[in-house]
Formats: sequence, structure tokens, C-alpha cells
Amino acid sequence: MKRLPVLMYHGLHADPGARGRFDAVYSVTPVAFARQMDWLRSQGYRSIRLGDLDRPDALPAKPVLVTFDDGDVSNLEVATPLLLERGMVAEFFITSDFVDQPGMLSSEDVRALSGAGMGVGSHGRTHAFLEDLSDAALAEELDSSRETLAALCGVEIDAIALPGGRGGDRESRQARASGYRHLLGSVPGPNRAPFRSSWLQRIAVTRQMDDTRFARLVDWSGLSPRLARTRFLALRVPKKVLGNDNYQRLRSRLL
Ligand SMILES: [Zn+2]
Repeated sequence: MKRLPVLMYHGLHADPGARGRFDAVYSVTPVAFARQMDWLRSQGYRSIRLGDLDRPDALPAKPVLVTFDDGDVSNLEVATPLLLERGMVAEFFITSDFVDQPGMLSSEDVRALSGAGMGVGSHGRTHAFLEDLSDAALAEELDSSRETLAALCGVEIDAIALPGGRGGDRESRQARASGYRHLLGSVPGPNRAPFRSSWLQRIAVTRQMDDTRFARLVDWSGLSPRLARTRFLALRVPKKVLGNDNYQRLRSRLL
């Protein structure tokens, strides 16, 4: 049965002084990213765009989806050239209010990503956790980010990645009502065909991840995937109990 590993990156930064917004957990070095992309290709993985899921019969034997969240300036300056050199594509989920902020993609950069053949999707307007919002505020986040990005790129925006990975049935229903066809969460998993579950599962690639662990997560083999899932689900329990603000503090301590 076909799987679809979906990788979740944020920024690519060699060190905290690199251009963009460095994150000690999620900033991956450009060297590690290049090595990971080379490994994928050497193993026969071929990167796809979300739209390719509309024609399951035409998918490569080993598809992989590379995604980036938030809209760090390194998405265009570092990631895009490394992807293009390898004939690869990715989907970039951009928080529309972050565009033109220091360290983030400019309006022109977002257009350039789209023009380079990369996918652009929404990552909310303000990066608020959608499950904390009223129905009206949720609708506003979904609609305004989609419209802003569509106007920037001149293409329809039909994919959203949940800010903070937080959301469930209500968010899924409203996102579909707002015109999104592809919904991505942050629960680690292998996405088995026919990829009809409400949210696509994603594998968070972190700065500390070594090559063996990366390979096991992508192949969804051995103990690493199960541990990643257990850890993620364990972190979800206190979130419900503590509320998102307290959860964020707990999480930053755990990570
Ligand atoms: Zn995010």
C-alpha cells in the first residue's frame, strides 16, 4: 500500500545569526536539509505537489511531500535553490500577517516562490491556534489569509496547515467550507493511501534529528515512528487540561 511521508520544515539557518527567524528546535541547517533531500532522491522518493493527489494513479511509486511553515525568508533564499537544483518541489504554508515582517518573506518573495513552481498555502492570518477561536474569528482567519495569498500569487489557495498543529473536526469543517481542499496537521504518521483522512499527518524535522532517525521516520520503520507518535500524543493530553497558553510554556520546557 502506498504511503505519503509529509515532512514539516520551518526555516533553514546555519546558525542563530543567519537571515530569518532562528528557532533552536525547528531551524534545520542548510547542509542537513540538502543531505536529507539527496537521501530522499537516492532512495527513489520523488517530491510531489498537493494537487498531484487528485490523480492517484499518476503518483510516483514513492511520493514525498516537502512542506515549510510560517514563511521564513530562508524559504526562498535557501530552500528554494536547494530544491530547484535537485528538480524538487515543496509546499510553503505562509501566515499572511507575517509577510513583509523582518526576517520573513516579502510580498515579492511569496510571488517568487509561486513563480518558481512551488506551492503556496495558508498557515492562518495571525498564527492564532484555530481551536481557540470563535466560529466567526476562525472564519476570518481562514478566509482573509486565503484571499491575501491568492491576491499575492494570482493563483487559487486551496491548502492550509494548522498553526501549532491544533485543530479537529470543527476546524476541518470550516476550512472546507472556506474553500480549502487540502488540510495538514502535525500528528506524526505515514499517511496510507488513499489519503482520505481529514488531516494529512506530518513529520516535524528538527535541528537535532540525525540521519538515521530521519530515514526511519520517512520510511516509517522501526521504533522511532512509534516513539514520535507516542510523544506527540502524550503532549496533547496536558494541552487539553492546561489550555494552550500553559501548554505552550510546558512544551517549550519539554523541548
Ligand atoms: Zn507555524
